[in-house]
Amino acid sequence: MARGASLPITIRQVTKGYGKVLALDRVDLDVRSGEFLTLLGPSGSGKTTLLMVLAGFTRPDHGSLLFGEEEVIRRPPHKRDVGMVFQNYALFPHMDVAANIAFPLKLRGTPRADVARRVEQALELVQLGGYGARRVDQLSGGQRQRVALARAIVFEPRILLMDEPLSALDKQLREHMQIELRRLHDRLGMTTVYVTHDQREALTMSDRIAVINGGRIMQVDAPRPLYERPANRFVAEFIGESTFLPVAASAGGFAHAGRVLKVAAPPAATGRCLLMLRPERLRILAAPDDALNMLTARVEDVVYQGDSVLVQAVLPDGCRIGVRAVSTAAAMATVARPGDTVTLGLAPEDTVILGEG
Ligand code: ADP
Ligand code: MG
Repeated sequence: MARGASLPITIRQVTKGYGKVLALDRVDLDVRSGEFLTLLGPSGSGKTTLLMVLAGFTRPDHGSLLFGEEEVIRRPPHKRDVGMVFQNYALFPHMDVAANIAFPLKLRGTPRADVARRVEQALELVQLGGYGARRVDQLSGGQRQRVALARAIVFEPRILLMDEPLSALDKQLREHMQIELRRLHDRLGMTTVYVTHDQREALTMSDRIAVINGGRIMQVDAPRPLYERPANRFVAEFIGESTFLPVAASAGGFAHAGRVLKVAAPPAATGRCLLMLRPERLRILAAPDDALNMLTARVEDVVYQGDSVLVQAVLPDGCRIGVRAVSTAAAMATVARPGDTVTLGLAPEDTVILGEG
């Protein structure tokens, strides 16, 4: 299978209600041609609904959907040139692997002679070469997922949609498949919209991530800016671990407990704001360091977690924060103990202020 043509997707003001529930609320989103974009959000946030709108199985109440230059909102699913991998695989259990994969080709009237060749190519691509005659119910979860993927790409669609395709797999296989899916995308180059509720999966796989909550897009960004510069508290809490301290904005900058913070990229916010603290961006200082923002805290708990150690501490105002440190032998030998008072350091470039209190 060669690298094919791909198409940009333009979603404008797409709204879908179910009774009183607004599953999608005026969604605007642009997916670039050939991009791997992930919809990330909690359960019930509207991810599947948006994917179903893209695939054509759900008609929104309002809005426009362009594939390239063409309006497709009224076009039926089989005329959209979209491959879809569903959460539950949705394979035909009574057919063998090859027949499952051949199904979309037959639907599109592909000549018989081409079908077998393309099915075998698709199987090779998902590393199931020679599995065509197996029955679906003889396959493991990971293999079924590959068959579902082969079926979605066998007709070389220009857009590929995947709804939590790895959620039924165990952690190791899931992480392996994340890398494999991403490689396959890079090889085929089709515009891909991927759905997950797993923030690490989204960070691992995506060119960009659209965070969705309550049917609304909260932020669209590449993994690093999304993690490091979340647009609001929801995004900051949903991606990674964080705690928030109230800070006051004034002419002199942002102050916490009467001290002005050193901030590398201060936002244009006023009034009550929040200082976001990520556990791995805080350091327990052996000696004060005036180049950093410093916080005094009392250690409550020290939790060894294998790759890292999590120190739980309380600030004088009662706010609980976590500090994550590497678990090298040297670091473990000097790590704080419960009851210790420690000075925490936060670099100005890691100091993120959210403009909402
Ligand atoms: P997600 O995939 O992010 O978990 P969904 O898109 O499935 O979320 O659902 C978004 C919201 O719309 C939820 O509140 C859900 O209960 C509701 N919903 C989705 N599909 C239907 C439907 N067919 N009928 C009624 N409510 C629905
Ligand atoms: Mg869903």
